[in-house]
Amino acid sequence: MQQLLDAQRRFFATQATKPIAFRKKQLDRLEKLLKQYEGELYAAIYADFKKSEFDTYTSEIALLYQDIKEAKRNLTYWAAKEHVPSSLINFPSKSYIIKEPLGACLVIGAWNYPYLLSLAPVIAAIAAGNTVILKPSELPARTSAVLEKLINTNFEPEFLKVVEGGVPETTELLKLQFNKIFFTGSTKVGKIVYEAAAKHLTPVTLELGGKSPAIVMADCKLKLAVKRLVWAKFLNAGQTCIAPDYILVEKSIETKFLQALREEIISEHFSVENHNYVQIINDDNFERLLQMIDAEKVWYGGETRAQERIIEPTVLRDIDFDHKSMQEEIFGPILPVISFESLDTILPKLHDLPKPLATYVFTASKKKKEQILKYVSFGGGMVNDAVMHIANSELPFGGVGMSGIGAYHGKTGFDCFSHHKSMVEKATWLELPLKYYPHTASRFKWIKRLLKLS
Ligand code: NAD
Repeated sequence: MQQLLDAQRRFFATQATKPIAFRKKQLDRLEKLLKQYEGELYAAIYADFKKSEFDTYTSEIALLYQDIKEAKRNLTYWAAKEHVPSSLINFPSKSYIIKEPLGACLVIGAWNYPYLLSLAPVIAAIAAGNTVILKPSELPARTSAVLEKLINTNFEPEFLKVVEGGVPETTELLKLQFNKIFFTGSTKVGKIVYEAAAKHLTPVTLELGGKSPAIVMADCKLKLAVKRLVWAKFLNAGQTCIAPDYILVEKSIETKFLQALREEIISEHFSVENHNYVQIINDDNFERLLQMIDAEKVWYGGETRAQERIIEPTVLRDIDFDHKSMQEEIFGPILPVISFESLDTILPKLHDLPKPLATYVFTASKKKKEQILKYVSFGGGMVNDAVMHIANSELPFGGVGMSGIGAYHGKTGFDCFSHHKSMVEKATWLELPLKYYPHTASRFKWIKRLLKLS
C-alpha cells in the first residue's frame, strides 16, 4: 500500500493530473466504463442484496452519469482563478484564489449505495485534479469485485486504484499519509478515521449518519405526507443514510396517521419479487434489527425471514425516546412512531439530541416550518418530502456535529478536494512608505486612516 501511495505521489508530482483536458479525459473514460459495465453492475448488486436494476439505476448509476456530466460542463469554471477585491492597505495589488488539487486522496465507501458512495467522491476528486485510492465497502462482496475490475483493468494504478478489503486493509491504509481522506460510513468508524487522519494532519470529509426524524404536523396534507414518507423509509429496506429514522407525529392526528401508514404500506406491495424491496445486507445487521422489534409495539409488519435476511416493513407505535429502537440509528425497515403534544415540548428535546444528517418537516404552516428550521440543527432536509434533497447537486450534502464534517456534491465536491490558495500580487510601480520605520506621527495618522478605510 505504501508503494502504491508512493507511485501516486510521484505521478501527482509530474503535474499530469492538473490540466483540465486530462481530468475531462478521465471522466469520459469513467463514463464509458460505467456504460460498458452496466449489466455487470446490476447483476453484482442483485446478487449481493437483491437490489433491482430500476433502483440501482435511479438511485446510483443515473446520479453518477449526472455527476460526470456536471463536472465536465463546469470544470473550467470551477477550476478557474477566482479574483476578489484587494485591500487598500496593499495598494497597488490584485488578489485572487487558485484552486489547487490536494494530491493523493483516499476514498472509503459505505455499502448501502455502493456504486454511488464509492464513485461520486472519486468523480469529485478527479475533477479537482487529484490521484485516488478507493476502498469500497467489503460487505457487498460482488459489488466491490466489479468496481475493482472496472477501475483496475482500465486506469493506471498511479492515478486511480481500487484496494479491496475490510477492517485490516482499511486500518493499514489509514496509517499512511494521504493529502485527503473522504470517508462515508458510521459515526463510530468516522471517529477511527478522524483519529488516524489527525496523526498526519490530513484533512477529512466525514459523511456519517444519525437518527433523522420526520416531524408530521396536524395541518399537513396527510395522505401525501404518508405516501412520500413510506417511499423514503422503505427504499433500500430503510438502509439509507438520510431515510426518516423515526416519526414525530402531532398527537391530535396520531390515529389517522397510523391508519394511513398501514394502508400505504399495504398498497405498495413491498417485496423482493416486486423489485421494490431489498435484503438486509448481512446476518449481523439482521440480528441487530431484530432486537429493535418489540412485539407489543408492532402496529404493522414484524414478519421476518432469517434465511433470506428479509424484514418486512414494520411500524412501531406508542414509542418514547427510551425505547430500544431509539438508542441508535436504525438503518433498516423499522419505523418507530412517537407522538407529541406541541412543538414547544418536542423542539427542546430535538435540540439536545445529536445533530442528525437530515430532518423532514411536514406542515402547511409557514410559521411552524420556520420555527422548526430555526430551532433544530441538522445536515440538510426537506419540507413536505423526504430523501429527495440529495438529488439537487446545487446543495452541499453533508452532516453537522455527530453526522459529519464537510460536504460534497457539485461545486462543493470539487472544493472539498481542492486547496484554495490565496494570493496577493503586488505591483512594483509604487511603494508607500507608511509601514516602514521611522514610525513618525504623520505616518501613524495616515496608516490609521487607511486601516479604517480598508
Ligand atoms: P461502516 O462505518 O461500518 O463502514 C464504512 C467503511 O469503513 C467500510 O468501507 C468499512 O470497510 C470501513 N470500516 C469498518 N470498520 C472499520 C474499522 N474498524 N476501521 C477502519 N475501517 C473500517 O458503515 P456502513 O455499515 O458501510 O454504512 C452504514 C453507515 O454509514 C450508517 O451510519 C449510515 O448512516 C452511514 N452512511 C452515511 C452516508 C452519508 O452520505 N452521510 C451515506 C451512506 C451511509
